[in-house]
Amino acid sequence: MTAKKIRIEGYLFLEGNILKNPSIELGKNYLTIKESEDGHFTHKGFAIPGLINAHTHLDFHKPINERDFIKWIVKIIKEEVNPKRGYENVDKKIEGLINIGVTRIYDITRNMVTESNDPITPFFEIIGKDSTEIPEIPKNMMISLHAPYSVSQNLAKRIVERYRKKSFVMHFLETEEEQKFLTGKNNRFEEVIYPIISRKRETESFSTPSEFLIKIGYRGIRKALVHFVEVTEKDIEIVSRLKNSVIVCPRSNLFFSGKVAPIKNLMNRGINVAIGTDGLGSSPNLNLWEEMRLLFLLERIPIAEIFKMVTTNALKIVGLRNILDNGLIIFEMQPNKTPTDTLLEILFQAEDLKKKIILPPHYQL
Ligand SMILES: [Zn+2]
Repeated sequence: MTAKKIRIEGYLFLEGNILKNPSIELGKNYLTIKESEDGHFTHKGFAIPGLINAHTHLDFHKPINERDFIKWIVKIIKEEVNPKRGYENVDKKIEGLINIGVTRIYDITRNMVTESNDPITPFFEIIGKDSTEIPEIPKNMMISLHAPYSVSQNLAKRIVERYRKKSFVMHFLETEEEQKFLTGKNNRFEEVIYPIISRKRETESFSTPSEFLIKIGYRGIRKALVHFVEVTEKDIEIVSRLKNSVIVCPRSNLFFSGKVAPIKNLMNRGINVAIGTDGLGSSPNLNLWEEMRLLFLLERIPIAEIFKMVTTNALKIVGLRNILDNGLIIFEMQPNKTPTDTLLEILFQAEDLKKKIILPPHYQL
């Protein structure tokens, strides 16, 4: 595999910094960036790293018309919807995402994926009880503990211990019902869902939901919590102490509960925040730009922070070193006087701007 040499007449926005006329070499396991010495440019414009959609379920193909989360889960269990969950037509979806600059997707799956299939980073989804045996998870897969109500405390703890070196994600505090479940109050997981699947509670009750994380040894930036919507100050305090990452899925959260995670508060506590679209069962599409715009407008998050969330921050969850490991988007545009003006133009018009997507050599599409 040969390295790609890219010389841009213009700018590269990287981790909050601006580089003028960058020269980039994308190799299999390395990259170098420096300012170009001569005038032989290969591209012209404003470049940013390829974006990472940090949470999807590619096996969902259609919206599920049920905004009550418990009823939504029941529909899935009874297979009244999406009866054929699977990877059909996924290539087309992925092609569409790459064309708009989303060049990495953290996908939750129940298939054992043994070969790397760029741009997907597969997370093997685990659901189970105290008596469940820990599955053998292939080297290239990360782990998804489905949620505290579906993975017992004891099983979660055993898996975290067994796979210390892997990255983890877990749906956490997506709804109020989950808060009630973890604090031992009456809740519809135990009242409605458990009887359907003949399951009994094995997890203990906590005074604050996030104590569950302490009990299972969920520590560090490579352990991420997805959603984190129904939280208290105490939860945020615990999660910041554990140094967990949080992946927010704003449109999916609006669909179910009409609100999003307290992102500014999380940022102020130094928590690493990334963004996902969630799957098509609860989100209009997998277009990450729409989530970014929503956070910019609704939460007034500074624009450079939003771009960090979908690049650097998301990368920290899987522990990759090279920010350009997922390629580059070069917007063939005349940059504005200040970089944030250009970033705003990109944020608002990304799909319509003329652009080139540069994928690293290890992507064999
Ligand atoms: Zn999810």
